[in-house]
Amino acid sequence: MTPEQFRKAGHQLIDWIADYRSRIAEFPVMSRSAPGEIKSQIPPEPPQEPQPFEAILRDLEQIILPGLSHWQSPKFFGYFPSNGLLASVLGDFASTGLGVLGLSWQSSPALTEVEEAVTGWMRQMTGLSENWSGVIQDTASTCTLLALLCARERTTGYSLAHGGLQSQPRPLIVYVSAHSHSSVDKAALLAGFGRQNVRLIAHDENYAMRASALEEAVRRDTAAGYLPCAVVATAGTTATTALDPIESIAKIAAVHKLWLHVDAAMAGSAMILPECRWMWQGIEGADSLVLNAHKWLGAAFDCSLYYVRDAEHLIRVMSTNPSFLRSSVDGQVKNFRDWGLPLGRRFRALKLWFLIREQGVAALQNRLRRDLANAQWFADQVRAAPHWRVLAPVPLQTICIRHEPPGLEGEALDRYTQAWCDRVNKSGEAYLTPAILDGRWMVRVSIGSATTEREHVEALWRLIRNEAAPSLATGQ
Ligand SMILES: *Cc1c(COP(=O)(O)O)cnc(C)c1O
Repeated sequence: MTPEQFRKAGHQLIDWIADYRSRIAEFPVMSRSAPGEIKSQIPPEPPQEPQPFEAILRDLEQIILPGLSHWQSPKFFGYFPSNGLLASVLGDFASTGLGVLGLSWQSSPALTEVEEAVTGWMRQMTGLSENWSGVIQDTASTCTLLALLCARERTTGYSLAHGGLQSQPRPLIVYVSAHSHSSVDKAALLAGFGRQNVRLIAHDENYAMRASALEEAVRRDTAAGYLPCAVVATAGTTATTALDPIESIAKIAAVHKLWLHVDAAMAGSAMILPECRWMWQGIEGADSLVLNAHKWLGAAFDCSLYYVRDAEHLIRVMSTNPSFLRSSVDGQVKNFRDWGLPLGRRFRALKLWFLIREQGVAALQNRLRRDLANAQWFADQVRAAPHWRVLAPVPLQTICIRHEPPGLEGEALDRYTQAWCDRVNKSGEAYLTPAILDGRWMVRVSIGSATTEREHVEALWRLIRNEAAPSLATGQ
């Protein structure tokens, strides 16, 4: 493909994406595709001869579209918002079109310096002090792994430079909430702590970690000869967007020399609203934090921001310094390869730079405020309806609900909940994700798709009530 052919095909593709976004509300939100259905339409052998771009574009429409659940739909209320605002999409195109790699500052100076600038912008936008330095990683899962590797190395005095974790006389312990994200568990296991050394700390009635239970666990472990190493607190848990008490946890972490990592993958976006910053009160006492700009904020996936207080420590844990990557300016610049796992880095900062510039902070704030108000409106409707319950506090944009008609309990209630949620999803008019809370099924309503307005939330509430009632009548 020559640049001139690219110009023509590129315009076609941009038009196609613009059309897709314009008509997105018409598609069934949850894909109706059966397992294997998409793959069966793709030839098992690759083409030997070139195919026209029009044919590829046609298959995008005819084969791929039906195999998608539409995350950008205004009727998408599943999982969490993962907004790819169109300005950010263009930033991502620009990054790919430039095709540059950041192996070192020298390998593309702008790649590093725009990343420094936008992580600085985001630091200010979220009210963090100047003591934090940021870097962009792919996902929160990666950031939390980095945090636990840094914790491990701080507690062991850089054991990686000699015998590693295997030479430690006392097992290192990591503390997490029973409601923390599965990526925290994965990170602890991959960082070598071992299943037996990951402690699940009990939560309170609001699904937030109980600081007193953390303190007790740390004392018990210390007395038993273990070495407490790290605690991961969550701002906005996955099931209910619960907020662990970061200030109290930070105090305990300081006393017992625990690394405090804050998983603010979800709630982090809301920190651009000053009125929400109480949600991570005490954050300045943490050692590291992650927030996902690729969720509610609107940067096209993937764009996770990792902030640390001690960048020197991160670099010491992550750096290797082969001769072909050294340069004469290394003392004056950042080499982000030493701030994470991969050597080759994409120009991810561009999509955040495009997003923040095209929107402006005020528009980003207004959208999030709209979603917070929609969530409160929805929660009020549910609370006011007979036999409907809101099961957890609603600090952000997720509402956990259940319909509990008289006489339905236990597994019968579970079957009923799953049945009406399934009906809603199969209707094509909304996408909701059910989950288990306190051993019983409930349904999460996650508001915050960029195009979701009050009218869509009102339509959702009508739909839910309509779909719940018939499944009760037929005893499903
Ligand atoms: C979404 C989420 C994650 C995982 O994010 P990835 O970027 O997909 O790894 C982790 N923790 C919380 C609290 C989340 O909301």
